[in-house]
Amino acid sequence: RAKALGRCQYKVFDNELSRAIRERVELTTALAHLAEGEGLSLHYQPICCLKSGRIRSYEALARWHHPERGAIPPSLFIRLAEETGLIHQLGERILWMACEQAAQWPQEIAVSVNVSPAQLKNHKLTEIIRQTLKATGLPAHRLELEITENVLIDNVEFKSSILNDIRDIGCRISIDDFGTGYSSLSYLWKFPFDKIKIDRSFVQGLSDPTAREIIQAIVSIAAIRSMIIIVEGVETEEQLQIVKAMGCTQAQGYLLGHPAPVVQHEFA
Ligand code: C2E
Ligand code: MG
Ligand code: MG
Ligand code: MG
Repeated sequence: RAKALGRCQYKVFDNELSRAIRERVELTTALAHLAEGEGLSLHYQPICCLKSGRIRSYEALARWHHPERGAIPPSLFIRLAEETGLIHQLGERILWMACEQAAQWPQEIAVSVNVSPAQLKNHKLTEIIRQTLKATGLPAHRLELEITENVLIDNVEFKSSILNDIRDIGCRISIDDFGTGYSSLSYLWKFPFDKIKIDRSFVQGLSDPTAREIIQAIVSIAAIRSMIIIVEGVETEEQLQIVKAMGCTQAQGYLLGHPAPVVQHEFA
């Protein structure tokens, strides 16, 4: 009986496994279409100056509308794209869409595009950015690139040379989700960042004195390095007032605006 049961369980496991594999294969096939632009769109979330309240830039956030499954979160499909190698094609398309759309905005506001780990390993990245700017007509100073800090652990030399090349074109670079990963303050010296984006988790933990002290320390370092601090995930007026009082320069979060398909320009 035990044997029979064992076999039966094995079969269940086997079925689940093959279903999981089939699902992954189907999703990967659909992802290849996404990389060609099918079902892909960008949402834009404003990043505001804390002093004036004015919009300084918009972060482009990829959205996938799957024909059967509906919206699939970027946390899921960007990872799958990384794992399958489709990220290069997808990343290029996202960059292109963001530049093309930003070039049409009536005001000279910058667009900020997320660059994934695999893209930063591509020695052609600088050339891709250069060509995209040229073809879309977006001036380099209006394109910013966001890099998550975890990406920077290895190949420091190579990556910092790519980032320097990108800055030489005239684009700005932000370190994204700062404080979450294997953070090292030395990154702030090793890499040419213009902006630090402090991760949402610090804002959520503002009632904790440690979180406030860490933000305060980052603000001091940013001042030495002439970097702009962007606080991510600001959801309440109280959080806004606290980070403003701490000397942070810019903020992003639901309080200031949700990601939306169309940018809401101020005409002041
Ligand atoms: P991220 O770059 O840190 O982007 C910020 C994320 O926080 C976005 O989630 C945004 O919708 C969300 N967010 C903004 N304000 C608030 C807030 O006040 N509260 C809360 N709870 N969340 C807020 P989203 O759009 O789901 O993207 C998740 C992540 O997926 C991004 O994190 C980024 O790492 C990645 N991602 C999104 N689009 C792209 C892309 O085009 N390329 C690459 N490589 N990665 C992307
Ligand atoms: Mg980002
Ligand atoms: Mg972020
Ligand atoms: Mg984040």
